[in-house]
Amino acid sequence: MVQKPAIKLDFFASGYCEANAKIANPQKKRGTCRFYALWALIEIKNVGYVLFDSGYSEAFQTATHTFPERFYRWATPMYLKPKQSAKEILEERGISVSEIRYIIISHFHADHIGGLQDFPQSQFICSKSAYQQAISLNRLQSVRKAILPKLIPDDFNSRCQFLEDIADEISINNSGIEEFKIFGLENFKLISLPGHAKDMLGFIFSLDTKKILYATDASWSYEAYHNGILPNKIVKLFFDSWPDFIETQQKLKDFESKNSNFNILFTHCVESLNYLSHDL
Ligand SMILES: [Zn+2]
Repeated sequence: MVQKPAIKLDFFASGYCEANAKIANPQKKRGTCRFYALWALIEIKNVGYVLFDSGYSEAFQTATHTFPERFYRWATPMYLKPKQSAKEILEERGISVSEIRYIIISHFHADHIGGLQDFPQSQFICSKSAYQQAISLNRLQSVRKAILPKLIPDDFNSRCQFLEDIADEISINNSGIEEFKIFGLENFKLISLPGHAKDMLGFIFSLDTKKILYATDASWSYEAYHNGILPNKIVKLFFDSWPDFIETQQKLKDFESKNSNFNILFTHCVESLNYLSHDL
């Protein structure tokens, strides 16, 4: 009998927003591009199902119905096809929401936490400083930072564990990237990618030839990142730290040069769509 691997990783997308293509890559021609909201399902032996982010859900429309949150919807209109929320995609695959033990939150932007309310039994794992920032802003500041507190479940506090508290080990790899060992695993580690958002998280996954560094929103385009093209400076308005954003990209490039067998994926990059385990 073929043994099931101890860990399995699949990517899915739940909805997208539209934005000017020049924002992600100022060298692009005019026009809009789609920022698909990717999330990952990780099946870990002896742990169970773990989600990394949750994409958009219809909750985004409810949360942006009134002002000032409605500005968010104007800036980045969201589109979600029927049956494409994380909950619905999982149920279609025979996985019920009650089977999702943990949801790891990369950062608190709406396109990453949009589905949280659909998982009333899951435990959350996130960075303490990211969470503290998300709940400390007033409504207007939240919209400016692309955070919609209405998407955070009311009982979040009682279901949340901070990564800094539960990590088995915290270390810095030889590219200067902070790594968090969790669930006792060596081949799935969370990483810190500050800049785009406060202490944003990504992960490093390695199983046989499948080697992925998932860098969430450390760039929106592999092409732009690879060619050293920075996004339009207007993004500074809602980024947490521009210097940290630049430094994180430099560390990723260093990692890539030392680990050429790894694929660097970004949540909203069109190339990442090749890794999806379902049709859009
Ligand atoms: Zn995003």
